[in-house]
Amino acid sequence: MTEPIPLSLLNDHLYCPRRAALKLIEGWRESNEHTLRGDIVHEHTDQRGYEVRQGVTLLRALPVFSERLGLNGKCDIVEMEPAGHPSRVQLQPTSLFPVEFKLGRRRRWENDDAQLCAQALCLEEMFGIPVPRGAVFHADSKRRREVEFTPELRRLTEEAISELHALLTAGPEPSLPPAVLKNACEECSLYKVCLPQVTSQPAALAQASRALFQT
Ligand code: SF4
Repeated sequence: MTEPIPLSLLNDHLYCPRRAALKLIEGWRESNEHTLRGDIVHEHTDQRGYEVRQGVTLLRALPVFSERLGLNGKCDIVEMEPAGHPSRVQLQPTSLFPVEFKLGRRRRWENDDAQLCAQALCLEEMFGIPVPRGAVFHADSKRRREVEFTPELRRLTEEAISELHALLTAGPEPSLPPAVLKNACEECSLYKVCLPQVTSQPAALAQASRALFQT
């Protein structure tokens, strides 16, 4: 098994494989309006701690990992029962429910669901209990959307993790997946690095390369 894949890269990979590869292989980390707003949404959940509300313990920024899948990261919030001091989580929680905070209004996105499902797979391995569902909290509409971790979603999630590992083990110089110009590119923080208008069209790319070396 290669080094662990950061959980958040799964979301990038299902948004666009090239975006995940630019981060994983070339180490690009650019910001734009959307990533900065995302950072603000995560300000509270990035601070590790816990609180007890209505009989449930809320664990914030809980580190999670899976040795089986070669994955690590953190959960924004995990709702744990029974309620009490978090050290009880080391004994045996009876129920764990991950909640991921996301920008935007309440809407289903496959990449968000897979990221949440990967958190559930980690929690199941760490605590040895089933985690059948979780939720995405949509910050703009302040509503949460429950997600069931169906066999199909678990399969999609594990396949995406395998694809990311394959990228890491593809040899000393793994190649980037080709750019595919799509609506999602407009919100991608790596737009200026990727240049999909050019890189999605091999002929335009060749012309740009020639122009570059002729100047
Ligand atoms: S700009 Fe588009 S093709 Fe390029 S990495 Fe972002 S989403 Fe993918």
